[in-house]
Amino acid sequence: MPRISSEVIKKVASARVGFDVLPLIEALKSHNEVSEFELAKLLHEDINSVRNKLYRLQQQNLLQFKKKKDEKKGWYVYFWSLRAERFKYLYKEILESELTRLDKRIKKEQESGSYECPNQCVALGLEEALGTNYQCPDCGATLNSCDNSKLVAKMKKRKSSVTQSIRKCS
Ligand SMILES: [Zn+2]
Repeated sequence: MPRISSEVIKKVASARVGFDVLPLIEALKSHNEVSEFELAKLLHEDINSVRNKLYRLQQQNLLQFKKKKDEKKGWYVYFWSLRAERFKYLYKEILESELTRLDKRIKKEQESGSYECPNQCVALGLEEALGTNYQCPDCGATLNSCDNSKLVAKMKKRKSSVTQSIRKCS
């Protein structure tokens, strides 16, 4: 039975395949090596819809299969399983790109004037504000932090939780 946490499954499904595959993934998780006919029965779904979802998962290399010949009917039946390692790999990849995106956004937010003079003389970025000791270079008033400091703090919090999740992967 492949061991993949629901956090990993949700993240990979939402980023790469679509949320509608979640019940199918759960079914594959609890019934290893299962045919698409059995899956259709388990999910009360028609076979084409199951095949479409399997196809989308397969495109991301998230499945493996065993082919067995049905001796009576003479055709091949596929028995599907989840590739736990691939889920984990994609999960890490998604988190890492999220981290890069967050870093860029944090930098951008910090560079755009995050401190303003209460008298509206200037708007300064964090480094510039540090350089003037948080005082307006024109009138000497103490600079106020703008609203984006809250946003930055939020993004930093998100960043540290993403970093932690990445660390757990390896
Ligand atoms: Zn000022």
